[in-house]
Amino acid sequence: MSKLFKRTKILATIGPATNTPELVEEVIMAGVNGCRMNCSHGSNEERDKHIEWIRAAAAKKGRSVAILQDLQGPKIRLGEIKDNHLDLYKGDELILEADPNFVHDGGMAVPVQYNLAEKVRVGEPLSMFDGKVKSIVKEIISGTAIKVEILNDGFIMSRKGLNLPDTDFGGDILTGKDLADIEYGASRDIDYVSLSFVQSASDIERLKQILLSFGSTAKVIAKIETKKAISSDEHLEEIVKMADGIMVARGDMAVEAGAEVVPIVQRKLIAMCRAHGKPCIVATQMMGSMVDSPEPTRAEVSDVATAVVQGADVVMLSDETANGKYPVEAVKEMKKVILYAQNHSRVAQISKKAESESEVYGAISNTAARLAEKINADVIICQTASGTTAFAMASQRPNVPIISVTSNPRVANQLALIYANSAFVRPYSEDVGYRLAEELKNNGYLRVKDGEKDLLTVIVSGDKDKIGTDTIQVRYI
Ligand code: ATP
Ligand code: MG
Ligand code: MG
Repeated sequence: MSKLFKRTKILATIGPATNTPELVEEVIMAGVNGCRMNCSHGSNEERDKHIEWIRAAAAKKGRSVAILQDLQGPKIRLGEIKDNHLDLYKGDELILEADPNFVHDGGMAVPVQYNLAEKVRVGEPLSMFDGKVKSIVKEIISGTAIKVEILNDGFIMSRKGLNLPDTDFGGDILTGKDLADIEYGASRDIDYVSLSFVQSASDIERLKQILLSFGSTAKVIAKIETKKAISSDEHLEEIVKMADGIMVARGDMAVEAGAEVVPIVQRKLIAMCRAHGKPCIVATQMMGSMVDSPEPTRAEVSDVATAVVQGADVVMLSDETANGKYPVEAVKEMKKVILYAQNHSRVAQISKKAESESEVYGAISNTAARLAEKINADVIICQTASGTTAFAMASQRPNVPIISVTSNPRVANQLALIYANSAFVRPYSEDVGYRLAEELKNNGYLRVKDGEKDLLTVIVSGDKDKIGTDTIQVRYI
């Protein structure tokens, strides 16, 4: 039996439910390829510990694990709610107070982290807690406070987000907090930075410039969740081209644009990302019921399988691993669904061919992927310096595993979130791919098919000093 590799990867949010070295190790051992640290919650002291635990667990497993730092962006949140719970009923009037000295006493005035009085207009919709509680602005009552009328029964908790889909906040989306978080992240071992509430490609361009100025080597993920970002296909494609990857941030997108919009945008974005050779993460509520239950619902299983068949690089867990009762089980269930889907269904074709195919490295990747399928190869080995060839190879969505080898540990960590890629760090030599395959065969990581003696490999490589990727070899190992 050849070993089963997940081709679609799992990104798990770290939070109170995974806040020990043992739990971080357990979720990584269960199949997590990347960990998300959300800057909206917790402290940098905690994040320092998380980074240490993640790196230790990855080393113990002998696998690359990506660390993603998620920037809050212009998300407006509630402050601290007394006892972390306030029930609300249809018809209630609630005051949102931005004065930083205001403390919630359990009553119907709650703190908010942003002065809405300056931005909102009476009659605009405002929803809280991922859209669970809907309201409408009734009155601007002071320079720092507004009053809303609650439209449905529900409850709110500390620091839950607010959405005001019709309010114009205007301009720059990176906040002072984001800049401080970027500076923190740039001095730490971070592989990806994601930005919430991206509106235009220029937001990503600005973030890239700032990261560069701090000397960061992290790649940038644009979280797609605003009405503006999805306002036209051309606009969305500009963002995809500018970013190094995309997250379909379904939670806030559903609140901002309507839940019915989300599955269609998801399908479109995955196809766009594949055409541009950019990784695509599908996020939020994939196994949402597993916050409280040891088993996912049929609909959740179907949701994960759909993302796999659509060819997503990554499926993400948020509350399930950050806040839920069954973080390890959620990872295991997700992995089961991924493996079954990939082994019993082909990834959907996309109508557009990959942009990179007009370049040498892209054309080589396309040819190598088709070749591997034709000869029923066990594995594609990809020698890559910057990761570019591995990205192009992944965008072909081959149905064999890709083993990437690079001399750069940052690149290896980044490849942990790329479709079908397992990345290894080895010093560069011309035949490093061949040697790695031998090593992985000998240690049992790669296994030959039943009845076969040799491993059939397709190796893609390039001369470091020449044009880059230029060689495909078929080797028995
Ligand atoms: P986003 O819109 O960026 O997803 P979110 O508030 O939904 O923001 P998630 O990262 O999806 O946050 O995590 C889900 C929930 O888990 C959060 O609302 C929060 O209650 C909890 N959580 C996540 N990370 C932490 C943390 N580091 N410390 C405390 N609670 C956390
Ligand atoms: Mg969000
Ligand atoms: Mg979330």
